[in-house]
Amino acid sequence: MSITDDALRANATLAEEYRPTGGPPAPTIAVVTCADPRLSGVVRLMGLPDADVDLIRNVGTVIDDDTMRSLIVSTRMLGTSEILIINHDDCGLSRFSGDDLVERLRAETGSYPIAPAQFFTFTDAEQNTREQVRKVRSHPWISSEIPVRGFLFGVQTGRLTEVLVEDAAGTAVS
Ligand SMILES: [Zn+2]
Repeated sequence: MSITDDALRANATLAEEYRPTGGPPAPTIAVVTCADPRLSGVVRLMGLPDADVDLIRNVGTVIDDDTMRSLIVSTRMLGTSEILIINHDDCGLSRFSGDDLVERLRAETGSYPIAPAQFFTFTDAEQNTREQVRKVRSHPWISSEIPVRGFLFGVQTGRLTEVLVEDAAGTAVS
């Protein structure tokens, strides 16, 4: 019996308590964060109702092509008016080198696929957060009216610390 089988059995019972929210989704804020299970409670730790948050997760809190796609739909189609990018300390993507992983996988599998083009590993979470914020702020399809702010989540403290990101003029803005 696999974990998935157990989950499906549980779902058959738990779904009896399920109450649909009704209507189309109407989130007010987009949150990009890591897939790390320690980040799963971050929405509630900000006091935000689940229904208000368009939650976009991937390994390493990366603003890549797919995250940009989600953010554009979120702000242009769903109506979210703010974007938060929440990186965290002790991230798995800061514990290995993407190049090393590629070499290992090529050696183990003998395959050289074109995707993923990179794993977006990093060493400095704060600096990495700044880069992700800048990628979103500079995207021409993200309105300049939408505030884009970056944070680090402390996995031991549950606290968010803002990462200030300078705009093009060198002024720290949030
Ligand atoms: Zn992480």
